[in-house]
Amino acid sequence: MKLSSVELLKKLSEADGPSGYEKEVSDVLLECFKERGEISKDKLGSLICRKKGVVSNPVVMLTAHMDEIGFMVKHLTTDGFIKFLPLGGWDSQVLSAKRVKVKTSKGDIIGVIGSKPSHLLTPEEAKRRLTLETLFIDIGATSKGEALEFGVKIGDAIVPVSEFMPLRNSRILLGKAFDNRVGCAVMVKVLDRLNKESHNNSVCGVATVQEEVGLRGAVTSTFAVNPDVAIVLECRIANDFPGVEKQDIYSRLGRGALITFNDPGMIPNIKLRDLVVKTARKEKIPYQIYTVNTGSTEAGVIHKSRSGVPAIVIGVPTRYFHSHGGIISLDDFEAAVNLVTAVVKQLDEKAVQGFLS
Ligand SMILES: [Zn+2]
Repeated sequence: MKLSSVELLKKLSEADGPSGYEKEVSDVLLECFKERGEISKDKLGSLICRKKGVVSNPVVMLTAHMDEIGFMVKHLTTDGFIKFLPLGGWDSQVLSAKRVKVKTSKGDIIGVIGSKPSHLLTPEEAKRRLTLETLFIDIGATSKGEALEFGVKIGDAIVPVSEFMPLRNSRILLGKAFDNRVGCAVMVKVLDRLNKESHNNSVCGVATVQEEVGLRGAVTSTFAVNPDVAIVLECRIANDFPGVEKQDIYSRLGRGALITFNDPGMIPNIKLRDLVVKTARKEKIPYQIYTVNTGSTEAGVIHKSRSGVPAIVIGVPTRYFHSHGGIISLDDFEAAVNLVTAVVKQLDEKAVQGFLS
């Protein structure tokens, strides 16, 4: 399947795949991987696309998690409302009145996340933040029996409803699940580029499962791939909006790919990190240095796999993380594709051995 960057991002953003329920997005990626390498799966469901270059070693692992944050049906009330569990880290403040889709065996059911309107809150309730426990989903069923008839069952997955669209400035894109379908799209585009260029290694593109509930697919797929070096492709927070003081902005839309120097889960291999920065400079690829003390990625477990794996995270800045409406810039997306491709091409046996000295 050959798609433009925007077509690919739309297809991946609109595919539904919360943690543990990644089948739909995995099928899209399977199509994308078909002409790009040899495909396998680990036993948890992560999809591996191995593309051999001029030589087989070293093994370079690119990962992007394919799950998105969502919910699961916990129970139905006698009046036909759905109470739910989060799959991944939701902020309850971004949920009230948002549309969702319940993925039932009889098809998708649309609903809205309900909560008490402010008119009905007691003064004490008005002072408190909304909690996930107080929210519910209204699918328009008049009773539990009717909801069951619609096909809703405990354990069904629930996902945000959010149409993907370029904004008036068509380089700026709005959509759901950019965390981390953007990383998946970067991976597909990098594999595309490597099909046309030579590289002295094997590249394993891995679309992992269940990242949002604890980096689970990264653990099993890293064991399966046994990489010599790893690059994690991720959406990372952009904080260039009102309410953040200028000196506190560490990631801006449109200013380039994010090279992570530190997050709570990992400090990258310094030689690998320096190679990435040097490459960005040499190739004139816009980049930003990302150092944060919140939010970790799959690199947190990958770099500790077996006897250790030199690893780094290359990200795309995303506004309004973990919500129905993320915003990214196509310029940053393309910078990430260019940077990862240029780095992978340099990862031969000698370069990777050099990371360990
Ligand atoms: Zn993520």
